[in-house]
Amino acid sequence: MSELKSFTGIGVGDGVTWGQTYVLAPRPTAPGDAKSVLGAQAETKRLQEAIAFVVEQMKLTASKTDETTAQILHAFLAMLEDPALLEEATLHLNEGWDAQTSIQKAMNSFTELLAGDDVFGERVSDLEELSLRVVAKLTGQDWSMSLPATGPIIVIAQDLSPAETALFTDVVVGVITERGGPTSHTAIICRQRNIPALVAVSGAMEIPNNAGIIVDSNKGLATLANEPANLGNQVTKRTRIGAPVALVKGNVGSVQDAINLAATEANGIGLMRTELLFLSRSSAPTLEEQTELYTAVLKEAPAGEVIFRTLDAGSDKPLPYLGIGKEENPSLGVRGYRIHSLDQNILNTQLSALALAQDKSGRPVSVMAPMIATVEEAVAFATLVRSHGIKTVGVMVETPSICVVLDQLKGIVDFVSIGTNDLSQYLFAADRQNSGVAALLNPWQPALIKTIARICEDARAANIKVGVCGEAAADPLLAIVLAGLGVESLSMAGPAVSKALDYLASVTLDQAKAVAQAALSGKNPAEAKELALAALPN
Ligand code: PEP
Ligand code: MG
Repeated sequence: MSELKSFTGIGVGDGVTWGQTYVLAPRPTAPGDAKSVLGAQAETKRLQEAIAFVVEQMKLTASKTDETTAQILHAFLAMLEDPALLEEATLHLNEGWDAQTSIQKAMNSFTELLAGDDVFGERVSDLEELSLRVVAKLTGQDWSMSLPATGPIIVIAQDLSPAETALFTDVVVGVITERGGPTSHTAIICRQRNIPALVAVSGAMEIPNNAGIIVDSNKGLATLANEPANLGNQVTKRTRIGAPVALVKGNVGSVQDAINLAATEANGIGLMRTELLFLSRSSAPTLEEQTELYTAVLKEAPAGEVIFRTLDAGSDKPLPYLGIGKEENPSLGVRGYRIHSLDQNILNTQLSALALAQDKSGRPVSVMAPMIATVEEAVAFATLVRSHGIKTVGVMVETPSICVVLDQLKGIVDFVSIGTNDLSQYLFAADRQNSGVAALLNPWQPALIKTIARICEDARAANIKVGVCGEAAADPLLAIVLAGLGVESLSMAGPAVSKALDYLASVTLDQAKAVAQAALSGKNPAEAKELALAALPN
């Protein structure tokens, strides 16, 4: 048997599937920088036409796909139709660069602003893809995907963008990608469509085309096999039998996200990331600008609690105007709440704006701080927040240090919200940007689940509510495990809400506890997930 027969990665979804591999052709290549021979006017026309072509193509794709993917594609299109992009490209066209170079330079200056951020960082690859689509049109390169008419097909790719997954037809029963992680677009869309997937599979591109393969997302394993064999647990649809065993809230970053979330069954907002307003500019937003945004979010949010997280900049979300300077290890440096020690105005203005938004909207706000590492920080933060007339205060649990002193937060904070993305990063000493260590960031890692169990126990004893707002909450089976451990609310991206509710309302609390106990006995992520699945009532 050849060594290449099995491939491991991070499983997305809860199913086992078999199909014939369809290896996507490599993406078109972007030529190097070149000066124009046609002149700025002709290049501008070429660029405008190419952008219009890509916009039309995307609109057509969006019109034929499901609602979630269409929403993602429209957000994608908004970036391409942003007048600031053409303005930036025009600067380069006027310097004599050709259309393809100018669009790439323009996109680069946008991506520099967003690079490194986990949430907005996803948009970096979106922008790069958009730029490449325009370049492909300008250079006459074909970028199409013509899936076979009959399946079942397992799509193999380096990475998949929303524009590509939108073209999936019913013949696609599984996906394997070399890149990506538990939070990538591929993972989100496959979860949404109940397509078992494996992401971060090293050597994925060595899988032969047109070969039979089994994808087991529970085990995080793909195995070449000519026959489907016994596929075991299939992707299951869950039937709601009662109230969900935990509240399901939404994660948002903008007013538009809040509007979209209100169309789901989410119970309020569990995480409003305030970074976006700060990231896209050269100086901090004013009190008035912030008040306006926060008020609008409160007005649009679905009924339920609304939790704002104070600015989580620094590290991979650099804001030059904060004056943090260069750091050797920025993810261990001045980020999140730590910015407050550099510049007290930022947090004070933000809290004033949140208090004003509370008054203006007539809706109470809850506020939490990112990257709290000590009890002292939590005390200082809670005191400051309450001095602004905000009653409900929490801290994120993202550092291992705060996990072990939760008992001392009794009477200090009302709630904690576990940021599993960063908690995994710091617990496992594994950079969340590095797909080489993505396996350690698998939210089914037993050490993470055990840590969450302990957080729940200590928080309960201290009378503190526990939520999870990291990506782990968006895995519906894991959501049951978390609820069984004692997590009272789970906050996730809007598209994940409905399926999470299907799962959480399909079990009783005692059943969720049994699923959690089963997961706790797993010795590795695959085993934890398999044991949880086996304990899940039908
Ligand atoms: C987290 O770390 O899990 C989290 C929710 O915060 P962010 O992903 O914005 O860092
Ligand atoms: Mg975080």
